[in-house]
Amino acid sequence: MKSFPMMSEVQAIECHYIQPGRACAFLICEGGRAAFVDNNTTRAVPYLLQALRERGMTPEQVEYAIVTHVHLDHAGGTAALLAHCPNATVLCHPKAARHLASPARLVAGSKQVYGEELFARFYGEIVPVDASRIRSIGDGEVVHWGARALTFMYTLGHATHHVCIFDAKTNTVFAGDNLGICYPALSRGRRPYIFAACTPSEYDPGYTIQSLDRILATGATHAHMNHFGTFELTDALIEQFRRSVERTEEIIQLAADSGLVDTELRVMINGLVRKAMEDELRYCGLPVDAQSLYWIEPDIALNSTGLSYSTMKRRQRRGAAAAQREP
Ligand SMILES: [Zn+2]
Repeated sequence: MKSFPMMSEVQAIECHYIQPGRACAFLICEGGRAAFVDNNTTRAVPYLLQALRERGMTPEQVEYAIVTHVHLDHAGGTAALLAHCPNATVLCHPKAARHLASPARLVAGSKQVYGEELFARFYGEIVPVDASRIRSIGDGEVVHWGARALTFMYTLGHATHHVCIFDAKTNTVFAGDNLGICYPALSRGRRPYIFAACTPSEYDPGYTIQSLDRILATGATHAHMNHFGTFELTDALIEQFRRSVERTEEIIQLAADSGLVDTELRVMINGLVRKAMEDELRYCGLPVDAQSLYWIEPDIALNSTGLSYSTMKRRQRRGAAAAQREP
């Protein structure tokens, strides 16, 4: 992890999700006030409160629970966190606000991906967030908070309800999952190993690149990424991320052209995702060994499922376009 010059201003909190080193949330302290950016799951809330205590702050001083998007490893703990922080307001995309207040569809979708047993282990019970404690934020809206100006940007690509937040005070951006995944354990090669997060069911490579460009246009020097940590936005990091997104586009095109369906399609996509992620390990100067695979196996599985959704959507779009061309 590259050092972040104002680390005291923004702190990454290990959430112990699946294994240490996989997911974090962020704590911003501003004068005597605090804000969390994402909260991982209900099981992570004790770690968030502990981080607050270590900064000498109380739950009453938490003013915002910012949510980049509602995937449950980012916002699964929102209701539980608010129960401890009586003065906190949720800031999020309007679509995310609807999911948080009525999580039934989100929960059903996640159970489909993870299965009942894993869902229960990772997330526990997801309860609705009181709608009166949620504030929907507009695209480009600036929230002035003490000496800070936080600019919210709607960023498509990873999820249709995703926001990234530019913090002018530290010249950094809270990227959620829009800049993908970069594990410090895999950052010891010639190039930084970073790859797109294609979590089901809304991943779109074209929009991901548009959002990347929008993030870069802020001039931010560093990105806070929930998987995992704060990274300097070097040319090498950005180039490697673009490569990884291009590979997902190639996979979607190949899979959409294949004519395969159901299990055969999923097997094909899984093979292509595995090959792409292993190829990129080598390109970055990392071995394809048990240690590297330990980190990326869960993401190979999740990205394969996500790219299956993207492939089906691509076919639907092509079908609709072809139907329009019919006389
Ligand atoms: Zn996500």
